[in-house]
Amino acid sequence: MSTFKKRYLLTPGPTMIPPAVVEARAKQLPHHRTPQFYELIKSVHERLKPFFCTKNDIYSLSASGSGAMEAAVMSLLSPGDTAICIDGGKFGHRWVEMCAAAGANVVTIKVENGHAVDPQSVATTLQQHPETKAVFTQFVETSTGVIFDIKSIGGHVAKTNAVLVVDAISGLGTQEFLPDAWDVDIVVAGSQKALMLPPGLGFVSVSPKAWKLIDAAKNRAFYLDLRRYRKGHESGEHPFTPAISLYIELNEVLTMIEQETVEGMWKRHAWLAEATRAGIAALGLKLFAEQPANALTAVAVPNGVDGGKLVKTMRDDLGVTIAGGQAELKGKIFRIAHLGYIDRFDVLTGLAALEMALKRQHYSVEIGRGVTAAEKVLVNDPQ
Ligand SMILES: *Cc1c(COP(=O)(O)O)cnc(C)c1O
Repeated sequence: MSTFKKRYLLTPGPTMIPPAVVEARAKQLPHHRTPQFYELIKSVHERLKPFFCTKNDIYSLSASGSGAMEAAVMSLLSPGDTAICIDGGKFGHRWVEMCAAAGANVVTIKVENGHAVDPQSVATTLQQHPETKAVFTQFVETSTGVIFDIKSIGGHVAKTNAVLVVDAISGLGTQEFLPDAWDVDIVVAGSQKALMLPPGLGFVSVSPKAWKLIDAAKNRAFYLDLRRYRKGHESGEHPFTPAISLYIELNEVLTMIEQETVEGMWKRHAWLAEATRAGIAALGLKLFAEQPANALTAVAVPNGVDGGKLVKTMRDDLGVTIAGGQAELKGKIFRIAHLGYIDRFDVLTGLAALEMALKRQHYSVEIGRGVTAAEKVLVNDPQ
């Protein structure tokens, strides 16, 4: 077997890093308690607002996305508070576990893997639990590749005293998401998805309604207490030593995002997703998600194929890393991400590698069929 391999990362985090961003890191670090760094922090927080499509302030933590999720939970909830969690997969389940760890009374809306939550069930659950302080959901449930209807959920939550917290870690920047218009109070994001950065930064935007709840909460967190981040926010002072190099990279990547625009990013991800789905259909494979997101495509492993081996062949023998299924979906699905620093030829590469890996398992597939179908979409630019 050849040891020479060019590597492609087609996973729903971490994602590939643009060369300009990699180069921005290769410098000596500035100190974080300097006027220059304060300016940088203030500037990136402002420039993130159009990417988030929000007017609310955005706070950054040196943590992975889960750290930002936990900051929302620990800052909002007091022990005994009721929290509604939508559990449609591994990440929804993470909300359940985090809220339980915060001592909340957790009401779970369980959604079958591969399905989207019915917004009406959120309305019904809110009626049954009028004491609810917060509703926690995903925008894109990355473990199943499903997108949730946040606009409708937001409409229901807005009629109550509860706040809506959305884990948009994988979905932000990949399709339309309008937190202010949709009454989302807290948006959680991470650096290693559509933002095209290495892991290590978590973000939260916080609405005035959420701040009221946070200020009234009997907070037990220290590092994850959002009030600490609010304190120096105006002046660009971070409460701890921030992941300095990541802010420098963020500053660089924001220039790319501003050039493309967030609407341009949505269009690109829609186009890449459409091409991937066309390729999957042409290979006779089935999508796993009832409402597939544009960040990634989850595919059911067909009968006669070893899903774990498929992912391993693509990664170790062909150099293309995709994601398998997590938890109970292990071996049952695989997930090809088209998220972040991805262009048309990355999608074609991913589909070609998939065809080859299927062929190596003697699965009946006509080489080139998936690629051809995708290429017919990708021959035109995003519309
Ligand atoms: C990636 C991801 C996370 C987890 O983020 P970490 O950075 O691994 O902590 C949480 N939620 C969703 C929807 C994700 O896609």
